[in-house]
Amino acid sequence: MSLNCIPSGPLDRRPSRKAVIRYGAREVAVGGSGAVVVQSMTNTDTADAIGTAIQIRDLARAGSELVRITVNNPESAAAVPAIREQLDRMGVDVPLIGDFHYNGHKLLADFPECAQALSKYRINPGNVGQGAKRDTQFAQMIEIACRYDKPVRIGVNWGSLDQALLARIMDENAQRAEPWSAQAVMYEALITSAIENALRAEEVGLGGDKIILSCKVSGVQDLIAVYRELARRCDYPLHLGLTEAGMGSKGIVASTAALSVLLQEGIGDTIRISLTPEPGGDRTKEIVVAQEILQTMGLRKFAPMVIACPGCGRTTSTVFQELADRIQTYLRDQMPVWKKQYPGVENMNVAVMGCIVNGPGESKHANIGISLPGTGESPAAPVFVDGQKTVTLRGERIAEEFQQIVLDYVQSHYAPARQTEEATA
Ligand code: SF4
Repeated sequence: MSLNCIPSGPLDRRPSRKAVIRYGAREVAVGGSGAVVVQSMTNTDTADAIGTAIQIRDLARAGSELVRITVNNPESAAAVPAIREQLDRMGVDVPLIGDFHYNGHKLLADFPECAQALSKYRINPGNVGQGAKRDTQFAQMIEIACRYDKPVRIGVNWGSLDQALLARIMDENAQRAEPWSAQAVMYEALITSAIENALRAEEVGLGGDKIILSCKVSGVQDLIAVYRELARRCDYPLHLGLTEAGMGSKGIVASTAALSVLLQEGIGDTIRISLTPEPGGDRTKEIVVAQEILQTMGLRKFAPMVIACPGCGRTTSTVFQELADRIQTYLRDQMPVWKKQYPGVENMNVAVMGCIVNGPGESKHANIGISLPGTGESPAAPVFVDGQKTVTLRGERIAEEFQQIVLDYVQSHYAPARQTEEATA
């Protein structure tokens, strides 16, 4: 077997329909052959229109392509048009998704401006009502989606699974000669709930190209198993996310483990990372994690990558950690402007290395690399640009000088041709 025979890269994306979510001239396509879309959710009180608009703006600036907001009471429904207007004033055109549970049929009917201002509705079929009311209230929400030409996500969650449907599937299981395990029954209930409700929405009149499905659970292996089967049984676009992923490294690792397996298999059209923020923490962290999953898997490019070594006993000062952090923060902060001014800059790699062992080698592989002096090495930091050593930095201003070299590289390599000609004329 030759190296050419070793498979590399994700499998082809699962064929799916395409749902387009619109606001004004902005269109975000989920599914089809489009890129995997990054989305997020606010944690402000939606009735606080200004506070919510500010958090949506921050999420959109961080790269969220869709933002979901809770719409749980009349005050929040009444605030949605004001949030949209505030975003318009701030020049933020990210489409908004309304998250509805229990009273969505009533809020959408009572607040038509809210129904119009939202670009998509999330409906949890486990939380649309009980008994006979359930079908009526579900149909009312779908009819409103049809009236305003909005797509919906049928978002099933194992924490709020439709109990009547679960009971039905348990009864069916009891009739089997060899009943399934409780875990298999739960998987079947999640998948059945999503698909049956999608078909019901189509019966009510919603186009099949206006439906996105999700079946969220909080266990990594459960999520992988459920989505593999869901992907096999339908061609609706799929929203991936590990619900209640948790806090800090646990939430990041669990989400990454689950989503990476599915994305590698071509399953998933939009993702959300459900991190619990630290008290007072930054909500945009979930966007950074989502983007880094997609970028490190080679599925999308969002920002230049910083390659940094972990450090070891050869780096007894914090200089190289501080420089790696500074450059990474600098690059990410510049991206909202750079992605318009310098197309392609997201392909750039920057290496910040701690000593001579791997520093020069790794730096030569990057577009720009710096090899800082380890303990006992002479206090000099060679810089490599496109594989060639160009300068050696010394002294107290290494960080500032290296940042300037990065900026010079961006301006000289990624400026559009016309801009470059004007600069040199
Ligand atoms: S490059 Fe040097 S400092 Fe960094 S991990 Fe390797 S040996 Fe340690």
